[in-house]
Amino acid sequence: MPTERLINALQSYGVRLADSRAGAPSRRGGAGPSDHKAMTIAGRTVMVPVHTEAAFDSPFLVRRPDADGVSVIEHDGVVIGQATFPGRPRFYALSTFDGVPYSKIAVLHGRDVLATTVLQTCIRYQNRAKTCQFCSIGQSLAAGRTVAHKTPEQLAEVARAAVLLDGVKHMVMTTGTPNATDRGAAVLCESAFAVKAAVDLPIQAQCEPPDDDRWFERMKASGIDALGMHLEAVTPEVRARIMPGKASVPLERYYAAFEAAVPIFGRGQVSTYILAGLGDAPEAILEMAGRLVGMGVYPFVVPFVPISGTPLESHPAPGPDFMHAILKPLADMLAQANLRSADIKAGCGRCGACSALSTYERAGVAA
Ligand code: SF4
Repeated sequence: MPTERLINALQSYGVRLADSRAGAPSRRGGAGPSDHKAMTIAGRTVMVPVHTEAAFDSPFLVRRPDADGVSVIEHDGVVIGQATFPGRPRFYALSTFDGVPYSKIAVLHGRDVLATTVLQTCIRYQNRAKTCQFCSIGQSLAAGRTVAHKTPEQLAEVARAAVLLDGVKHMVMTTGTPNATDRGAAVLCESAFAVKAAVDLPIQAQCEPPDDDRWFERMKASGIDALGMHLEAVTPEVRARIMPGKASVPLERYYAAFEAAVPIFGRGQVSTYILAGLGDAPEAILEMAGRLVGMGVYPFVVPFVPISGTPLESHPAPGPDFMHAILKPLADMLAQANLRSADIKAGCGRCGACSALSTYERAGVAA
């Protein structure tokens, strides 16, 4: 099976792990996709669901690692590949000067990405009617696995250690939305400024479009190299159903914000996250992707993962054929436009671990 199809299938079905202790600790809850474990397959480090309902019944089983740390992957009992697991990061053993474990400030994503949610609270998460139905930003906070507000000093300290001890290559800073004005841009600016003062690490910041486009200049001046403003869903009906609060920001505001941000951060350095499998047809996602690519925005399309404890925990994940119908033409579209994940300075598009998209990009280049 080609690597991109294998990764696609593993991300759709999830896997059963013979040894759940293998590799770095898996992510449970938190902002964005969760309930995954990082594993490396054919040189690509990807996040594969392991704690979802579907994963418990997955036809894929990852065996216990051998003495060299290599695990075989079986499909219905037939060996189809092998995987290794990135190890537990060394910076997880440390605590900040004020006594907070580093792992509550930021975590390792994929193989070499430091990820943090600066504000673990969100105006949209206050009640079930407004919350994004896929999101579990409050779960890890309630479980005590993180702190509500990571200070600039804490972030700088952890980022420096993660670079020195674990060789992280870039950083993702996301945030819950604190207000309906700057929408988190201000706290991202102060965080990025402190990290950049401590260590030379490319940073992607992620937030909703702020009310004033001048924030993009300020973000860039603070040391933010790349920007993510995440659509999640692309049609008005699905947006209203899946993220009733966030859908109050109209698509037109996103388009205007993309237009304003691309000249500041550069073509391909502004991206958006699109969750496939929530109701948008492949054609609708590809149509939106075409519009975004035309603006110089990288559309990072990711299979939806139903996270335990969220309103969508029983919603099915998209099948591999559904994802293939999007990712293959999308990779071709990106190649034609000369937009490459590898050229993104920092962030989810560069990491690529939550989707097979970048593997499709490479497969297209190789072909
Ligand atoms: S794609 Fe983004 S959310 Fe997924 S592992 Fe990489 S940095 Fe984290």
